[in-house]
Amino acid sequence: MIFNDSEFGEVIVRRSPLARGVKFSISTSGRLAMSVPKYTSDFLVKRFLNTNRKMIREKLPVKDPNEQRARDYQKKLLMKKAKEYLPYRLEYYAKLYGYKYEKCRLTHANTRWGSCSSNKTISLNIGLMKVPEPLRDYVILHELAHLNHMDHSKAFWAEVGSHDKNYKNHEKKLKLFSPGV
Ligand SMILES: [Zn+2]
Repeated sequence: MIFNDSEFGEVIVRRSPLARGVKFSISTSGRLAMSVPKYTSDFLVKRFLNTNRKMIREKLPVKDPNEQRARDYQKKLLMKKAKEYLPYRLEYYAKLYGYKYEKCRLTHANTRWGSCSSNKTISLNIGLMKVPEPLRDYVILHELAHLNHMDHSKAFWAEVGSHDKNYKNHEKKLKLFSPGV
């Protein structure tokens, strides 16, 4: 459920059978998020919010509602750009170096640039559209190499290095950017 609060803007409420009490956090868009036990009524949710206003104001970086919407818009644009680029770039390198993958998935996780699953699905973060091209290509080559090595062994890095001679430098530079949108 999402409800509108006059102070914090849209508040995301997640009802979970595992929740033991009320927990406040910040969503990736900067919205206030509340996790509550499954059968908590709307009335109680709002009361929890009201009794915790002061703590939230002091401790949680809730973004201004305008900023929340600006971020939604930015994410939409980035997703559009990513859709028109990343799957084709992946296909290009896969063909060039003879890799076969099942599927390309676009993600917007906060923590990782990409991943490769055992069923050969390669996930790429749409935040890659914000980093310089050599770093973006490095992530793609890194994930493709995982099709042959599902670890970070010497053999894995040797394969990455055979396609991207500057991979160590690219890996290091990538740390200056955050995958979060
Ligand atoms: Zn890896």
